[in-house]
Amino acid sequence: MSDSSGPPTVRTVADLRAAVATWRSAGETIALVPTMGALHEGHLSLVRAAHANASKVVATLFVNPTQFGENEDLSTYPRDEDRDRELFAQEKVDLLFAPAIAQMYGENDSTRIDVGELGTCLDGEYRPGFFVGVATVVAKLLLQSLPDVALFGEKDFQQLQVIRRMVSDLHIPVEIMGVPTVREADGLALSSRNAYLTPEEREAAPALYSVLNKIADAARSGGDLPAAIDDGMDELRAAGFSSVDYLTVRNADTFAVIDASTDLQRFPGRVLGAAHLGKARLIDNVKL
Ligand code: AMP
Repeated sequence: MSDSSGPPTVRTVADLRAAVATWRSAGETIALVPTMGALHEGHLSLVRAAHANASKVVATLFVNPTQFGENEDLSTYPRDEDRDRELFAQEKVDLLFAPAIAQMYGENDSTRIDVGELGTCLDGEYRPGFFVGVATVVAKLLLQSLPDVALFGEKDFQQLQVIRRMVSDLHIPVEIMGVPTVREADGLALSSRNAYLTPEEREAAPALYSVLNKIADAARSGGDLPAAIDDGMDELRAAGFSSVDYLTVRNADTFAVIDASTDLQRFPGRVLGAAHLGKARLIDNVKL
């Protein structure tokens, strides 16, 4: 089962199921942490939260082709399995599932999961098909491992809500837990794609989090949201972002637009943003 270094590793669904079945019969509880690798502290915080919520932790390492659009970075996505294996071992991951594409998407594979509006707004609008790919691969991983709990980062807040919706709609018996975003000292949310930033862009990158916080402050103090958003757009462009896909205040459950701060007394709110800086598309969000 084990590759030479790193945690015990399986590469087929059959071996994954066998390992989990052995644990189940011994009364263990299982937490699942899906990742695409290129690990950073954000991923590792999910593993730590997983240990706190189950007796065995299964991590997955799979760069999922169905969530990448035609002009996106599937072929250049950062990959370093040896380093990832070492980090997972340090965090005492009990089992790593690292399948090949053919294991996840068999011959004639054609089933896709579409959660509807929750997955077609915001990132779903700018990355058509992205959440269909995410929901499909996460459903597969959940059904392959049947964990008690699965952990996802709030960094990808829309993804977290799409997965919650899917699990609820499909009656998949698993608890979905969100884990707070891990940030650099200057506020930039950790992301595997930050590796695309030049040193100059890296210096400009925290502007996204700073702008989201300014909009959040305006929302909390009953300020003018459209004006705060306009100022944020200007600030990002001035910092060197080439384009802003969205800066917006939404109902955190439905993603309906909130354009008056008074509405925030009635709905849970979230400020979300996505913007391009050099080769990277950065996303981030702040809770209200
Ligand atoms: P990825 O490998 O980018 O697909 O991410 C795997 C998981 O790590 C997802 O649940 C992400 O939301 C989560 N994640 C990514 N970045 C962070 C971060 N900075 N803080 C917390 N979780 C994160």
